[in-house]
Amino acid sequence: MAINGKILGKILISGAGIAGLTLATLLKEQGHDLTVVERDKGLRAEGYMMDFFGSGWDVAERLGLTDKLRAIRYPIERFNFVDAAGHVYASMPLTRVGQALGGKYVYLRRSDLERILYDRAAQAGVAVDFGREVTALDAREDSVHVTFDDGSAGDFALVFGADGVHSQIRRLVFGDEAQFARFLGAYVAAYHLADHKFHLGHALNLYEETDRVAAYYPLDDTRMDATYVFRHGETHVPRDERLAFVRHAYDGAGWIAEDMLKAYRGHEPIYFDSLTQIVMPRWSKGRVALLGDACGCLTLLAGQGSHMAMAGAYVIAQELARHDGNFASAFAAYETKLKPAVAKRQADAAGFARVFIPSRRSRPWLRRLVVKAMFSPLLLPLMFRWFGAKSVLEGYP
Ligand SMILES: Cc1cc2nc3c(=O)[nH]c(=O)nc-3n(C[C@H](O)[C@H](O)[C@H](O)COP(=O)(O)OP(=O)(O)OC[C@H]3O[C@@H](n4cnc5c(N)ncnc54)[C@H](O)[C@@H]3O)c2cc1C
Repeated sequence: MAINGKILGKILISGAGIAGLTLATLLKEQGHDLTVVERDKGLRAEGYMMDFFGSGWDVAERLGLTDKLRAIRYPIERFNFVDAAGHVYASMPLTRVGQALGGKYVYLRRSDLERILYDRAAQAGVAVDFGREVTALDAREDSVHVTFDDGSAGDFALVFGADGVHSQIRRLVFGDEAQFARFLGAYVAAYHLADHKFHLGHALNLYEETDRVAAYYPLDDTRMDATYVFRHGETHVPRDERLAFVRHAYDGAGWIAEDMLKAYRGHEPIYFDSLTQIVMPRWSKGRVALLGDACGCLTLLAGQGSHMAMAGAYVIAQELARHDGNFASAFAAYETKLKPAVAKRQADAAGFARVFIPSRRSRPWLRRLVVKAMFSPLLLPLMFRWFGAKSVLEGYP
């Protein structure tokens, strides 16, 4: 409740995802009185695969979580690039990525990271109100009056929107999503296959053909996660039409791309969205601040959204402590510190979106040459340095 003796009052965090759970842990350990609400009814067990390193790793280290991260293992030993005919045209051991990142690297599912952060938050004394969300915010001079969907209401000294790319807090405070959305010309869907007959080996397989790619991750001998990314103009896809939409996009696709979608028995993808970044001129307004995807979604193409979500939480907590509870200066310092780093990663990801999915104009031989060069032991560490593996937490304890 107090920072260096200065009373702030109650703090509300909306969203118990990667950013929200990290911020909740840090603020709780600073002694704040917290309310954390999460729209979902509980933690999700499923999700997509992610790689984890950089600033996210540094925050995990400061939270004492790296042993738990390293304990998560999937049978992925190699990274294969597979062409339209199903041939592996480039392959490298995953240990090479670990070496390039000084051993500070793991592959895990979003749900693994969320579970680890949730347990850490619980250990710090954080309680999450699942199945509850904010419906209205009224900024008053010395507090924010918040109404929840269960009809209850309360006054909070600070409100944090950590509620993801389609943030409700952002909509209520800054306005419609459309004004901040930067569509990258593609859609993404993630699936889980519980009992499949495909032979992936102990490798992450990245399959590509014109306008569509897919990544397959073995979880054990019979289970796998798959992520599909494909070019498509912006459109609205109703929830119950998502599966058909993706299947249609992969009609006639090679290797296991089309067959895997046919074998999927769920009613809709586990995850489905457009590839859209969130770009905002300001991340805070008065007593309300946004963090993570809510204000700076990078998309999966940056491969660092969870890192920046955790870094954002860390910087906010540090700056609140440094500014002795003066939230206006703390929020200004948070934006000054993190916005340029997020903007660079967004620009990199937007550029990468143009080449990650092959187009009709792509030259396959050139693409293969570039992939082989980029993943060579010599260039890989440089590539990670360029794409933001360097921590943004320099200057913080
Ligand atoms: C397919 C895919 C692959 C990715 N790969 C990587 C990768 O390799 N490496 C990486 O670092 N990042 C990756 N990312 C990005 C990463 O997952 C996100 O950047 C990260 O999860 C953002 O964290 P967040 O806490 O801001 O949002 P989220 O993780 O989305 O969490 C938001 C939380 O808020 C909750 N919520 C939503 N609305 C409300 C509401 N109205 N009220 C209350 N709660 C609400 C949600 O249920 C959720 O729990 C990937 C993303 C995708 C889609």
